[in-house]
Amino acid sequence: MATIIYDADVNAELIRQKRIAIIGYGSQGHAHALNLRDSGCDVLIGLPETSKSRIRASKDGWTPVLPAEAAVQADVIMLLVPDQYQGQVYQESIKEHLTAGKLLLVAHGFSLQYHQIEPPDTVDVAMVAPNGPGAQLRYMYSLGKGIPALWTICQDVTGQARTLTLSYAHALGCTRVGVIQTTLSEETETDLFAEQVVLCGGLTSLIRTAFETLVEAGYQPEVAYTCCLQEVKLIADLLYQGGIHFMHNSISDTAEYGDYMTGPRIIDEHTRENMRTALHAIQNGSFARQWITENQAGRPALEAMRRQDANHAIEEIGKRMRQM
Ligand code: NDP
Repeated sequence: MATIIYDADVNAELIRQKRIAIIGYGSQGHAHALNLRDSGCDVLIGLPETSKSRIRASKDGWTPVLPAEAAVQADVIMLLVPDQYQGQVYQESIKEHLTAGKLLLVAHGFSLQYHQIEPPDTVDVAMVAPNGPGAQLRYMYSLGKGIPALWTICQDVTGQARTLTLSYAHALGCTRVGVIQTTLSEETETDLFAEQVVLCGGLTSLIRTAFETLVEAGYQPEVAYTCCLQEVKLIADLLYQGGIHFMHNSISDTAEYGDYMTGPRIIDEHTRENMRTALHAIQNGSFARQWITENQAGRPALEAMRRQDANHAIEEIGKRMRQM
């Protein structure tokens, strides 16, 4: 059974006695910074001089400093820049100022798990990874609620890493609903696997291939778009609300029978083998190496795939359908 920590288990005060640097002010950065500020914490925003996010941060009432300056001043440093740049930001702005006893935090295990960052053994290192985008983290906090998070302690030299990390999660609002203890590899590997196989890669490939199959068979693209893409939300909402059995109870008997009969023929043993291959590439680091190399080369493959993605027939249809 997973260890889940709630508000009542946490020292909420400890994080308020520290100065926290939030490096990056994007999806996660803005939500962490605002939730922490509203929880009474002392927060600094670290952004490069040229960062576009400075405008957003200023509008929210911050006066950003350079990442290195934030790292100098802070006791707790939360790194919220894109995973593929964390190694570089760490080397250029954080490493030198990560003096003994400080706490380095991440919100996803990628950079630590794949050795983009190798902190010294004189500091605490931990992860607090909210289970949702920053907008939701902020919105739920502002309603007096929260979203869950995963957390783990990677290094505890002060003996305080666990208490302080959970205090941080409390200030984010996550312990209101519970934070689940994990390991760095479990969080990183399951997160990458789920986004590649189900949430992003699996779902978009399923939708596009089904759309193409219907259009190729002579059905109207507008109808194919509606039933293969737009209705995904209706089913996803039911799954979110009550799980698979609940969803089955909410759809027609015909849809449910078709699910049992056809689903396993689409997602078959061949697909399962492909899932295992994808998981293996995540576990042995080859996916991460490929992604890091792609970034070092200026992201040519990503840009080519983005262009292809934007030019797919489903996008043109989607634009028209969403205007209805
Ligand atoms: P975003 O892309 O939304 O934001 C990144 C921020 O970092 C921007 O403010 C960006 O500024 C800034 N930045 C970029 N380069 C640098 C740099 N060299 N130095 C300092 N700041 C820089 O990222 P996310 O918030 O999505 O991701 C941050 C972390 O949170 C990642 O580890 C991610 O895996 C994790 N996470 C994300 C979730 C999500 O749903 N988005 C959910 C849970 C965890 P600029 O505007 O100038 O580019």
